[in-house]
Amino acid sequence: YRRQNIQLKEAMERIEELAITDELTKLFNRRHVIKIINEQMALASRGVSSFSICYMDLDHFKVINDTLGHDAGDRVLVKTSELLTSSLREIDRVARFGGEEFLAVLINSPVERSFQVAERLRLRIEKASFPELTGNLRVTISIGVAQYRPNETVDDVLKRADEALYRAKRTGRNRTVSSHA
Ligand code: GH3
Ligand code: MG
Ligand code: MG
Repeated sequence: YRRQNIQLKEAMERIEELAITDELTKLFNRRHVIKIINEQMALASRGVSSFSICYMDLDHFKVINDTLGHDAGDRVLVKTSELLTSSLREIDRVARFGGEEFLAVLINSPVERSFQVAERLRLRIEKASFPELTGNLRVTISIGVAQYRPNETVDDVLKRADEALYRAKRTGRNRTVSSHA
């Protein structure tokens, strides 16, 4: 019985892990990062910590896909994920939020610091070499940063980060913009 219990426990842990993980990139998935944000909101509203969101989107990713194919596009997503993870502190969290969109949750990090972290991520990706790239294809990301404000909902803070991201796209891409509105 003991061996069966251990096997059952391992199977359950595996299921729990699958439920929170994005299959391609092994980052947290969208549902789980929203849970993480909710937990951080509870801490922030008690004044325990401040946190920020970085909403990131690969620039002109469709061109990479259309030129090199979907599998090469997938490898770019995986490598981007690895660069993001290895560039952040252990306590920060990074997730795949959708197709070619990522979300970082920077713990205990006000907007000025978060902007600097985002810039470091952006430059790290700009400078990285992606073996699949040919010709003048480049991998860059645009980032919108927003610090959580007490009494905001998850949607509120995500919307501000998304608006900042939109400004980063509109003003030329491969940029970081913070939300002050
Ligand atoms: P922008 O700079 O405005 O963000 O341009 P973009 O081309 O990155 O944005 P757009 O939304 O037009 O295209 C996103 C592309 O991402 C299209 C879609 O096929 C691709 N994509 C989404 N998910 C995946 C995926 O899992 N794998 C691959 N290879 N491509 C994906
Ligand atoms: Mg997108
Ligand atoms: Mg994009």
